[in-house]
Amino acid sequence: MPSDSRRRFLEQVTASSAAWTLFPSLGRADDQATGSLHLAPFRFDVTPPKGHSLCGGWIRPVIGVDDSLEAIGFVLLGAGKPIVVCAVDWTGLLNDAHVQWRSALAEAAGTTPDRVAVQCVHQHNAPFVCLDAEAIVSKQGDLPHIVDLDFYRRCLDKARAAVESGLQQTRPVTAVAAGQANVQNVASNRRVFRNTYGHVMKMRGSSCRDEELRALSDGIIDPQLKTVAFYDGDTKIAACHYYATHPMSYYGDGRVSSDFVGLARKRRQREQPECQHIYFTGCAGNISAGKYNDGSQPVRRILANRIYDGIVAAEKTLQPKSIEHVRWRTAEMLPKARSTLSADTLYQQISDSRNSFVNRNRPSYMLSWLGRLGKQTPIVLSALQVDDISLLHLPAESFIEYQLRAQQLGSDRFVATAAYGDGGPWYIPIAEEYPNGGYEVSVAFCDSSIDAVMTTGMQSLLLPKSV
Ligand SMILES: [Zn+2]
Repeated sequence: MPSDSRRRFLEQVTASSAAWTLFPSLGRADDQATGSLHLAPFRFDVTPPKGHSLCGGWIRPVIGVDDSLEAIGFVLLGAGKPIVVCAVDWTGLLNDAHVQWRSALAEAAGTTPDRVAVQCVHQHNAPFVCLDAEAIVSKQGDLPHIVDLDFYRRCLDKARAAVESGLQQTRPVTAVAAGQANVQNVASNRRVFRNTYGHVMKMRGSSCRDEELRALSDGIIDPQLKTVAFYDGDTKIAACHYYATHPMSYYGDGRVSSDFVGLARKRRQREQPECQHIYFTGCAGNISAGKYNDGSQPVRRILANRIYDGIVAAEKTLQPKSIEHVRWRTAEMLPKARSTLSADTLYQQISDSRNSFVNRNRPSYMLSWLGRLGKQTPIVLSALQVDDISLLHLPAESFIEYQLRAQQLGSDRFVATAAYGDGGPWYIPIAEEYPNGGYEVSVAFCDSSIDAVMTTGMQSLLLPKSV
């Protein structure tokens, strides 16, 4: 980046640093008794073209497509201003890109961006979009792009068109159901190999060939795949599935894929074309299939079958009931950046051509995070409450403990959690894991105070129904 724009950026970041305080969580609720609820399903293709960067540009770019990437969601009408929920087969949508996606869907649905949840599924042979990071790396001239802006804009155009055409084909929603089932041998905690002080010494990645690591227990996971379905009379018209694991079997080969969770979703979709099947990744920051995945190609299909079996088993438990109340709640948070993140040092890392691509592109995401905090753009958490069911939308790579905590906070209801909303902060460990180190903590952009800020936000979203 030229020195004058670099200086301006630093001034902007520094000038606002004094304002980096805990941002009070602003819980807002919009409670609506249901009159005539309707649901408009939409989907559109978000497969990147040949040559497009994958996972931030530090793995092989697109050489081919094994199966397409999709954005899938619905607009819920009849409970105040429209509500939009969408899952995207991308690694992440960060900062302004996440705001733009919510704004585009809101505009097309005739609502406001705070009533839109966009959650990524987090496959890695997929785009990982931060517009500020793209601007930073493109000015360097010798770094791989993060996102092709023309492709990105085309996806937003498709988003608007898909929502508009979905709104022409709404279905009445009369009932809702929630169910769950155990998934066998997929999720495992990555941080199980520790010394006597609790420090993480080695970790299981999304795949793992270290027999000693694979032999260790699952550790803390949420084994349940949860499904929440909406009905028009007896007909199931939308089914949202939630499971917490990194969704990669293998990646880095340049072949785009929705990976094992997407393959499971697509199989179920083929079987039930009249129902919109949507898959959300839960709080999987410290969860992967590493214990059960050696990274070889046949395992993708095996893992897909296990997720599919979980979906079918969860659906078997569904018992639809008439809907009485729908409520949309939001909470905003502006967590603090780590004190070790220095804009000046990050610029040096990005500009140093001796560093690897990952060690130059990744700091550009960190710098973008500092810029975002400088602009005081909050992260929006949200929850769609339908009678005694809450669909909770959390940001980034949240640790599994947040999902389990949400289920405790909302113990009077069924809580299904989707993470990987706004990806700005990258990993969100719980406070007590910060001293224990490990990869996720080493690349978390916020300090441990994010735990209290996010938990306060979750509490306001999961207040008892009577409040
Ligand atoms: Zn991840």
